[in-house]
Amino acid sequence: MRYEEIDNVSFFLDKDHFIYDYKETDTLDIYVKSRTRSCSCPSCNTVTEHIHATYQRHLQDVPVRSKPTWLHVNSYKFECDNPECSVSVFTEPLSFARPSQVRTDALNTFILGIAMFLSNEGASNVLKLLGITVSNDTIQRIYDKIGFEDDPDVEGIGVDDVAIRKGQKYATAIYDLKDHHLIALLDGRDGKNLEEWLKGHKKIRMVARDRASAYASAINKILPECIQVADRFHLFQNLTSHLKEIFRSELPEEILVQDGQVLSEAPDKVYRERKVDLSLFDDTHYDNTVPIDEEGNTIVFDDRASNPNCAKEKKRAEDRKKNSR
Ligand SMILES: [Zn+2]
Repeated sequence: MRYEEIDNVSFFLDKDHFIYDYKETDTLDIYVKSRTRSCSCPSCNTVTEHIHATYQRHLQDVPVRSKPTWLHVNSYKFECDNPECSVSVFTEPLSFARPSQVRTDALNTFILGIAMFLSNEGASNVLKLLGITVSNDTIQRIYDKIGFEDDPDVEGIGVDDVAIRKGQKYATAIYDLKDHHLIALLDGRDGKNLEEWLKGHKKIRMVARDRASAYASAINKILPECIQVADRFHLFQNLTSHLKEIFRSELPEEILVQDGQVLSEAPDKVYRERKVDLSLFDDTHYDNTVPIDEEGNTIVFDDRASNPNCAKEKKRAEDRKKNSR
């Protein structure tokens, strides 16, 4: 193993970690070390340099060129030196993987990004092709772990109904208007859960919402002073649907154009007889003589049925003309 730092390749780590080796077989194994020699206790915030032990974490990461990629991180356990602290030993936090996770945050995000548009089984199959082995159940577990940090002091929110997982169920998404990050995801879209949620968020002064009146009445009921605005997307949707209505009522169903001019009414249909180009027969050595039998007598065909001048055919032609009008 090479223990010198590999320069300029730690783009996916933080400043406290560096890559000291890698191995490429069926998998890509990247060996990572921690630079830190001190850490602050998660309980009392006392900074300690007291290393208790080293240990290795094995984390699956986003694959490089569809090759299963693993980070092997040499990490530290520290002892808290504060005698009044309840924590004696704690592990060094990694900015790219939560404690007890076997996948990096980047990989979990990647999996969620793909699973969002597929069933768990479909996502599992696609991910396998991309170099990530993850079961249907694990994908579901990653989904179930998504949490939102609520902010009871939020002053401006956006509310929208969203379809979860390919429209299997609906939810009400609430986001902070300042930076549009999600702060709550409530079941249903009938406004009942929104009503309950609003009771704990009385500082809200402005709500951007869609057109759903269920949300409007929930907001009116709990926060009557609150300003309700339609968000840009729904304003635009309203505008286009109104314009559609206007076009539908103001414009005729069909507009007739002939030679670059708009016609006020449909022109009369003109029936033209289609002329057969007889010159086409010139090259075909066409025999137009009367047929004769073996004894030289003329063969006479009864061609009344196909004669366009017979009464029956004339009537048929007349009917056809009537029906095509
Ligand atoms: Zn402590």
